[in-house]
Amino acid sequence: MNRHLLRTVPMAVLATFTFGAHAADFPKDHPITLVVPFAAGGPTDRVARDLAEAMRKPLGGATILVDNAAGAGGSIGANKVAKSNPDGYTLLVHHIGMATMPTLVRNIPFKVESDFEYLGMINDVPMTIIGKPTLPGSTFKDLTAWIGKNKGQINLANAGVGSASHLCGLLFQTALKTDMTAVPYKGTGPAMTDLIGGQVDLMCDQTTNTSVQIEAGKVKAFAVTTAKRLTTPALKDLPTLQESGLKNFQVTIWHGLYAPKGTPVDIQKKLNDALKVALKDPDFIKRQEALGAVIVSDKRSEPAEHRKFVTAEIAKWSPIIKAAGVYAD
Ligand code: ASP
Repeated sequence: MNRHLLRTVPMAVLATFTFGAHAADFPKDHPITLVVPFAAGGPTDRVARDLAEAMRKPLGGATILVDNAAGAGGSIGANKVAKSNPDGYTLLVHHIGMATMPTLVRNIPFKVESDFEYLGMINDVPMTIIGKPTLPGSTFKDLTAWIGKNKGQINLANAGVGSASHLCGLLFQTALKTDMTAVPYKGTGPAMTDLIGGQVDLMCDQTTNTSVQIEAGKVKAFAVTTAKRLTTPALKDLPTLQESGLKNFQVTIWHGLYAPKGTPVDIQKKLNDALKVALKDPDFIKRQEALGAVIVSDKRSEPAEHRKFVTAEIAKWSPIIKAAGVYAD
């Protein structure tokens, strides 16, 4: 090989890899990374790891890794994907924060609507109001009595400003007309460890993180955030917040899959096809349902419907967040 070729071959390889990504050779011998914008062990991490397993086969046995790019309520990981090479190898699994963060947090370094390709939605997940195991009583009434007696001294864990637990916690305090001290973590996985240990008092989080701990008696559960009671065995006896007197309190978290803007259309299609196979995978459905999640089985698995849904969620949550006055700088 002459010197000219030695210099030019690596550039040609790089050019093919960077700009010539197309579905025929996707995914080649290169791992796909699912970026989770929260710490390991929480609900977003849980669904991403289960999804990675379920999408592996329809993607020809590809290696799918999870990268926990946690911090700033989910915006570090989302920004990382927004700025990544749009070649299909770096994807984002994110939740309702994609729709609430633009109103909840005034300065985020990416644009939810124009910096991503929408690849389809994954699941819907209820939330639960849970407390440290040493809290007195076990009913929602017991909880509100304790909150009333301990005004100004209660800590409420969340996954950072703009996260789902932050949103739920803010709405909860507004509904109870009380203030608690927010304790931000990089995800509700590590927050759960501290709640079990009693270092923080309360948390509102997805059932995919809380149901196992509730069932094991490691935390106390007081209510669910859905309009109707749940059927999951560990959660079926919990009242809704609405029936407990918090009118119109209803939050359901959802997760979706995204690629950076500009990812080739044929690669987007291949990823969406693999997602749709995963959404019908009995093992994936079983694992998620056992934790209280509902796998998406409607048209929101289509990218255009996913985008429409997120746009509608932004329009739905923006006035609620503004009216509650719960946004952060
Ligand atoms: N459940 C978290 C939230 O509050 C995030 C996580 O760790 O998945 O947004």
